[in-house]
Amino acid sequence: QQAAYAKLRDVEPFTRDGERIEVMMNAGLRDDVAMLSMTGADGIGLYRTEFQFLVSPALPQRERQTRLYRDVLEAAKGRKVIFRTVDIGGDKSLPYLVNATGREDENPAMGWRALRLALEREGLMKVQARALLEGAAGRELNVMFPMVSEPWEFHAAKEVFDQQLAWLKRQKHQIPTAINFGVMLEVPSLAETLDLLLPHVKFISIGTNDLTQFLFAADRGNPALAERYDWLSPSILRFLARVVQGCVGQPVQLGVCGEMGGRRLEALALIGLGFRRLSITPAAVGQIKELVRRIDTTEIAEAMRGWLASPPENLRTEMLTWCRE
Ligand code: PEP
Ligand code: MG
Repeated sequence: QQAAYAKLRDVEPFTRDGERIEVMMNAGLRDDVAMLSMTGADGIGLYRTEFQFLVSPALPQRERQTRLYRDVLEAAKGRKVIFRTVDIGGDKSLPYLVNATGREDENPAMGWRALRLALEREGLMKVQARALLEGAAGRELNVMFPMVSEPWEFHAAKEVFDQQLAWLKRQKHQIPTAINFGVMLEVPSLAETLDLLLPHVKFISIGTNDLTQFLFAADRGNPALAERYDWLSPSILRFLARVVQGCVGQPVQLGVCGEMGGRRLEALALIGLGFRRLSITPAAVGQIKELVRRIDTTEIAEAMRGWLASPPENLRTEMLTWCRE
């Protein structure tokens, strides 16, 4: 199968009606970057920086972080890389980071994790900010913050970067050629204040893995709940449609970086909703590119409008029938 998609590696994913869909990939290890040229992905839409922390016996030194970020950008050969600041804590807890609450989180996914932790452990955030700024010296830097639930968290996190940048400038160090900040939208509350945040961010990436668990109050890792919700359910699709609507006419790049985008019907649904950037598991890049080349965005958008207004009993079956027609 991989061989069949290999021929699409150098083919740009345009839809039949000429819309360019950005098909990016998710990564977390230095070696993952090699998948960029193997799959022909447009870039890395989500680089999970916490992987380095998870495999280290102690907090990785700034120099090690800098080296990793530089290596990743080097290996990406000019393709866009979006670094997500650490999403540790909760279930990805590190023995060398003691929980600020002094006790175990009862609900780790909703606990002291990601940006919440990073903003309190200011040293950790400062070190990572400096490492990213230094690692991207002379190149474009794209930084994304996880688990933002209200705009102030974005401003506080960006402030840490601004301070580090100011220091580097004062010291006359080389800095990135451009710095773009964005957020992950994975906590539903952020959707309610999106209009306030939009003027300040360059991009938004929807983390459908966490978004789904928070929207349905259903643990993403609990197999007993896996059958209870579906990425093609009206709740998810209507939620996403509202986010897309909120971004219309705004100079913000909107994408999805959860697992949802790597599945065929779900990717089709996302394109129908108006998404033009998907960041997905490398293994799915070929098949999603192939899908993109077979669809017409106006047709799928029209079908999606109908499905949103009156959701069929089983959208999955409905979409499969629609695809065959
Ligand atoms: C998500 O939540 O959808 C996401 C992409 O981030 P992670 O899976 O790392 O939580
Ligand atoms: Mg997440």
